[in-house]
Amino acid sequence: MDVVTLGETMVSFTPQATGLMRYARHYQSAFAGAETNTMTGLSRLGHQTGWISRVGDDELGASVLSFVRGEGIDVSNVMKDPTAPTALMLKEMLNEENVRVYYYRQHSAASNLQPKDIDEAYIARAKYLYITGITPALSSSCLEAVQQALTYAKKHSVKVIFDPNLRKKLWEENHARKVLLGLAAQADIVLPGVAEGEFLFNVQDEKKIARRFIENGACTVITKLGEHGAYYVAGKEEIYVPGFKVKAIDPVGAGDGFAAGVISGLLDGLSGEEAVRRGCAIGAMVTTTSGDIEGLPDRRLLENFMAESREDVS
Ligand code: ATP
Repeated sequence: MDVVTLGETMVSFTPQATGLMRYARHYQSAFAGAETNTMTGLSRLGHQTGWISRVGDDELGASVLSFVRGEGIDVSNVMKDPTAPTALMLKEMLNEENVRVYYYRQHSAASNLQPKDIDEAYIARAKYLYITGITPALSSSCLEAVQQALTYAKKHSVKVIFDPNLRKKLWEENHARKVLLGLAAQADIVLPGVAEGEFLFNVQDEKKIARRFIENGACTVITKLGEHGAYYVAGKEEIYVPGFKVKAIDPVGAGDGFAAGVISGLLDGLSGEEAVRRGCAIGAMVTTTSGDIEGLPDRRLLENFMAESREDVS
């Protein structure tokens, strides 16, 4: 196994028409889960990935399982929980710019994830453990499960990559800050956005954000800068990797694709800078489609895109 992760994947429903959702009659369904988005990106590039989770023993759980399995992600450590439902998410498109998200994930099957669900041997076999700040926000047992996975990763020298992925709707802010900083301190590589740096350290500048994460315990910090690319800091190396010029139509999922690109590059033995460049390419590609995973490339699409696209050197 190259990379394992843990978290929740929901079924999302979005009205086909814009406006207040109370008038919606037709919905489009999709799957929503930051961790499985990143695993899908890695799997499309040929890496071996695994997902630890729970789904409800219900129809939506069956659809999540077959979707994730269909993307080539190992689901042998996903449990069907008969006591709780699979989570739902609704996206209300008030207009092109204004989207409201409603979660129906409290007491969901995945929020029942427990430390005992984490198999030590499964983590030990991986090269990387990928965690986000979403899973620990779901419940105290999820936070304990994340900590358990981290403990096993450390014990077996499995590298830890952490995307803080702040979701303010899911938890109280001071608690979020404390937990996210605690997890970041245990990670080898942290992938924050500027907004997360601002939330955690009250600084907006990417150089200051990186410094604060390193003071907090991380070895490598790669700060995402949207269309401008990313800022990479590891030891004495400090590099701005420019973004790729694309016609972006939907930014959601870019960060998950970016993580897939960085991890894929590291698995392939690229330098840190080249791995971040791959992350920037995949992040940019994801923004050119309206879903979270539709723009994730296979090897050939990625190579063509990187060969043909222009990086923004401004
Ligand atoms: P998400 O919306 O998934 O939470 P994020 O805030 O974590 O995303 P972003 O900075 O939006 O992360 O995007 C991740 C990476 O994707 C960026 O570092 C950049 O390389 C690439 N990217 C994002 N938006 C664009 C864009 N408009 N044009 C080109 N590249 C982009």
